[in-house]
Amino acid sequence: MAAAMNSLYLLRGPICIRAFNFIKSINQTAQIQHNAFIRRPLQFRRVLSSIRATSDEELAASAAAANADSGAPTIFDKIISKEIPCSIVYEDESVLAFRDISPQAPVHVLIIPKQRDGLTQLGKAEKRHEVILGQLLHAAKIVAEKEGISDGFRIVINSGASACQSVYHLHLHVLGGRQMKWPPG
Ligand code: AMP
Repeated sequence: MAAAMNSLYLLRGPICIRAFNFIKSINQTAQIQHNAFIRRPLQFRRVLSSIRATSDEELAASAAAANADSGAPTIFDKIISKEIPCSIVYEDESVLAFRDISPQAPVHVLIIPKQRDGLTQLGKAEKRHEVILGQLLHAAKIVAEKEGISDGFRIVINSGASACQSVYHLHLHVLGGRQMKWPPG
């Protein structure tokens, strides 16, 4: 009996190792199943939703581009005429700066020329537009000061469908209040 107990005692180490390995293999199997059934579909859903969001923006941009040169008024004309409300940040005789309805940063302000004068997009700018283009940039600097983001801000101008422009009245986006990333999307 003592000899049997002795050999059991000696076997205890290998038995423990085998038991440990067995439990480890169950754990690994569970982890693989977790990855396959929980994590992968989650990652897959995230990728899918980002593709959907991108194509929504691209679809809206290409729909807007179809009317780009029609000369039809845009939503910004209604903002200028105060037909629809907006939150004005800065205004002078030439430009209007107001908060974007769908902000992409803590500070997201749009600056537009009050007279579109053919400036549906930056790609249509002509020599005669030099003054207003300078005024828009100068207004961006004033907006950055007013919003307290002079130490770091970004100006974006989307020009054309492949840049996802959705409103065909030239506008500058002034973005700030968070760390900007590079390259942009
Ligand atoms: P873009 O895609 O460069 O043409 O930018 C157009 C911007 O106008 C988008 O960021 C929209 O969120 C913004 N926007 C559209 N309608 C309004 C509105 N009524 N008030 C403020 N911003 C607007």
